[in-house]
Amino acid sequence: MDKLKQTFEQIWQAYSGEAAWQNVADLSRFHRIQASPGFRQAAQWIHQRLIRDGLEAEILSYRADEQSVFWAWPSFQEWDCQEATLHLVAPEGEARLLADFRACPISLIQRSTSFDGEAEVVLVEDGEEEADYDGLDVAGKVVLTRGGLHRVWELAVEQRGALGILFDGMRPVKPVRPEGDLADVRQYTSFWRLPGGNQCFGFVLTPRQGQALRRLLKEGKEPVCVRAKVVSRQYDGELEVVEATIPGETEETVLVVAHLCHPQPSANDNASGAAAALEAARTLQTLITRGDLPRPRRTIRFLWLAEMTGTMAYLAGHEQGIEQLIAGVNLDMVGEDQGQTGSSWLIECPPDAAASFAPELLIRLREEMLRLKGMVDVSPSHTGVGAYPLYRQAEVPFSGGSDHYILSDPTVRVPTPMLIQWPDRFYHTSADTPDRTDPHSLARSGSLAAIYAYWLASAGMEEVSWLGYEMVARFKARVVETAQAAATEALALPDGESLAKALADLDRRLAYLLGRQKAALKTLERLAPVACLVNALWDEIKQGAQHELAWARSAVGLRAATLGVESLPELPLHDLGEEEKEAARLIPVRQVRGPIPLEDHMRRLDGGARDGWRQMRKAHQDSAPDTLTTLALYWADGVRSVLEIADLVELESGKRDVELLVAYFRLLEKLGFVRFSAETA
Ligand SMILES: [Zn+2]
Repeated sequence: MDKLKQTFEQIWQAYSGEAAWQNVADLSRFHRIQASPGFRQAAQWIHQRLIRDGLEAEILSYRADEQSVFWAWPSFQEWDCQEATLHLVAPEGEARLLADFRACPISLIQRSTSFDGEAEVVLVEDGEEEADYDGLDVAGKVVLTRGGLHRVWELAVEQRGALGILFDGMRPVKPVRPEGDLADVRQYTSFWRLPGGNQCFGFVLTPRQGQALRRLLKEGKEPVCVRAKVVSRQYDGELEVVEATIPGETEETVLVVAHLCHPQPSANDNASGAAAALEAARTLQTLITRGDLPRPRRTIRFLWLAEMTGTMAYLAGHEQGIEQLIAGVNLDMVGEDQGQTGSSWLIECPPDAAASFAPELLIRLREEMLRLKGMVDVSPSHTGVGAYPLYRQAEVPFSGGSDHYILSDPTVRVPTPMLIQWPDRFYHTSADTPDRTDPHSLARSGSLAAIYAYWLASAGMEEVSWLGYEMVARFKARVVETAQAAATEALALPDGESLAKALADLDRRLAYLLGRQKAALKTLERLAPVACLVNALWDEIKQGAQHELAWARSAVGLRAATLGVESLPELPLHDLGEEEKEAARLIPVRQVRGPIPLEDHMRRLDGGARDGWRQMRKAHQDSAPDTLTTLALYWADGVRSVLEIADLVELESGKRDVELLVAYFRLLEKLGFVRFSAETA
């Protein structure tokens, strides 16, 4: 451990949060829309810096067109915009400039097509339901809305002939961006993969501008008209991935990824992750070249890519090498000034279906930060014993939404936790500017990613064994906490039956935790030949869980005695309902690697099937359908039935929805992304 502390100290001292902050400021100047000249310029800028810093670096290109598909992920065309302006021209007394792409690129709905002309504005409010258009004629007009862009496009533009969309929404981010906040800021909005090319244009207004237009429209004295001009192009082009390598002695590789995309400025999301990774690459390269750190046995690879699409393109283009990727870390929004943005510094774990050593290592390494010299936002305690952080931090379960959601998929199997600051008051708005970022935040995430990558790249028998013992210690603590929480709850239970149920639930939960930790320990064998040790560690955690279960049983026994219950009743067996019987018969076998962007494939289905799924999602809103289905797909290993998957998803997320999952897997089957195992037919 002394070696680890010393290495971390070296990396920490060599890493410059200020330099990373300068990188943020530089990157924020590029309009980094996925597959665009601005994105390419940012990629070239990163590449030049890497070369200057002595790294092996390359810019890889993938096809940006409407034919290419990376696994299940469709590509899209390159887009370029020269100019875009929006003027209010009537009522005459109100005439003014509403939006100018040159002054604020976020004021255009990204991927708008060219347009030049005048049009009347019609208010459709949300515009997401057919009924919103009753009695309205939107043909040849521009609709003003705060609704979901794609749905509005479908109903207003595709079906009713509207020319374009004005969007004046500002989605709240609880609790740091309440309803009505940021009235003079614009929200990042984009047309994505509209069928037949994006034959539509649109602008983003500030909520205050929107309110003024709404007032004019409601007064209804005279027509409200705008003059819009967009000069843009969509064409078959390219999507870049920047790759930098610190070679080890083997092909085995640790990944550090950060998405480089998003409009100008998008400082925290994600110039910050890209910048922090760049400084991490420089730091490790310098220390290794100088001989301050020995060259690691494994390779460390840094990737800057377009979020999701770039990662899918890279993986689909490197199928042969994926087996060599032993773990990764994703840097997404790591620069936040916590005071301004309201964020907390999070380690987001990979999904439970991808249990591994990776999140536990990252969490353990972050604890070391409190002992680093020169940490300005760590305070020694009053007595001088111990220290505590003055920044907010937490560990959170998987929720997805960034590139770790692809890498951690068990069909890809690169366990990748994410470093992120969340929530962020300025997320996805024109106010996500470099002055909301903080060099100290960048230094923390950047140096943590560097030590994590270097540790994994260097780890041998001794280090891996240490990590195994750490994982056991953490597991025991988790089990003690779980059992004690169940015992505490039991104190409030009214009768023998509920006590019996509480014990059964605890039993089930501990079995789940054990299974997950067993799988996590097993992954240590990817790092070193530690099979014997892993068996011993497994015995240890099994015994620990049994011990805690017995302990909780005795606590529950106390409650039973108080209630005068002599022995706990047998729980009645649960009969499967029709839905569950069907779920038990279906064993989905995945046909394509990586997550599936369902929305992009729905067009292949008929209107009835599309509507059916939309209604299903709406009716099951309480189940968080997007999260639930994402988790379910991870658990689908070709052996488990949908019912077993629903059980596991429930243990992971606390939500159970068999009906939703049956419908989901049936939909995937229709789309050809799963088939149902023959034994079950
Ligand atoms: Zn992001």
